Amino acid sequence: MDNLKLLHAIFNTAIDGIITIDSQGLIETMNPAALRLFGYEEEEVSGENISVLIPKPDKGAHNGYLHRHQDTGKKRIIGTGREVLGLKKDGTTFPFRLAVSEVEYENRKIYTGFIHDLSKEKEAEENLKKYTSELEAKIKERTQNLEHLINDLEKARDEADRSMEKQKELNLLKTRFVSMASHEFRTPLSSIQLSALLIDKYLEKLEPENILKHTAKIKNSVAHLTGILNDFLSLEKLEAGKTKALLQSFDLVKFSEELIEEMQLIAKQNQNIVYQHTGAISHVYLDPALLKNAAINLVSNAIKYSGENTFIEFNSEVDEAEVCITVKDNGIGIPEEEQKHLFQPFFRAHNTGNIPGTGLGLNIVKRYVELMGGKVIYHSAQHEGTSVSLIFKNR
Ligand code: ATP
Ligand code: MG
Repeated sequence: MDNLKLLHAIFNTAIDGIITIDSQGLIETMNPAALRLFGYEEEEVSGENISVLIPKPDKGAHNGYLHRHQDTGKKRIIGTGREVLGLKKDGTTFPFRLAVSEVEYENRKIYTGFIHDLSKEKEAEENLKKYTSELEAKIKERTQNLEHLINDLEKARDEADRSMEKQKELNLLKTRFVSMASHEFRTPLSSIQLSALLIDKYLEKLEPENILKHTAKIKNSVAHLTGILNDFLSLEKLEAGKTKALLQSFDLVKFSEELIEEMQLIAKQNQNIVYQHTGAISHVYLDPALLKNAAINLVSNAIKYSGENTFIEFNSEVDEAEVCITVKDNGIGIPEEEQKHLFQPFFRAHNTGNIPGTGLGLNIVKRYVELMGGKVIYHSAQHEGTSVSLIFKNR
């Protein structure tokens, strides 16, 4: 095979594209690999300016390079393997590595460009980038999930701590209840015991009047014990968060009148509960059961801690903005230095002497009132009496 044929064979079978241009930048030859890469037939491109194969924005710049090279002899593009973009016939572009060499042939300069397609490498690179960023996103997501998990775990731990704390409080409460009960239960229980003995005796003597007196005493003591147990159960239910306010609309005046009628029955001799309502409206939106419990507590305190032949004032006031219920007595009052403990469970002021009580009432009142969105305020001075008000926003 002669040299020319060999060169032809190499030119035609080369895997990389080979393009030659003249010093004006016009295409002279393109080997089959180059034609395939750019998607042209030979006759479509031969004689065309090389710029048809170059996409914007480099399109025009190519001639500039060529001229600069010819003027200065500086080998700016010659020889170096640059990564550039090629423009295919169908308008799409592809990346390739370009190496240019200059050939002196028959007294003129021609330039040969070797074109090594980089589409596959670029694609692989892109895929790798995509894969990496997908991986990063996944890691981020996993990290976030992990953070959420840790958050949830911390919350659960706090919750457990809180419930342990609650449990401790509840246990303390129960312990205090037992010591209170062993004290408070003694009087009514011995009174029941005594009445039972006396009933036996009066039965022998056939004295029904005395028997009735003592059955009444027994009933009273039992009611008292039931009251204490009920208070404790209310407190336990409150502690467990099981008490909910069921708000509804009702007539406060009617409610108060019924309550006072009931309480008047257990008042002391000549202790008069006087009721007064202020305001044109009497409907309120509260929980009647919780309110009744709270009001009974206040009135029974007023009865307990004030003497015979006194007045107890029960006032209700409703206007556009507020609902206010006040119970006022002229009793023993609460010593000022002890008032700060007033709402603590089991608190009893030292001036209560042998007046029975558990110290749970006002704590329950306050918590019921707060469940209905209200507040408790009080004024008291020893020997001068006490007034306690329940205040709610009117809705
Ligand atoms: P309970 O109501 O549980 O039977 P209690 O009356 O002792 O017992 P609270 O109603 O909580 O308990 O009241 C706490 C304490 O506050 C009372 O023991 C008493 O010292 C004082 N107190 C409450 N109301 C009055 C009042 N109207 N006058 C004088 N002291 C009062
Ligand atoms: Mg009380």
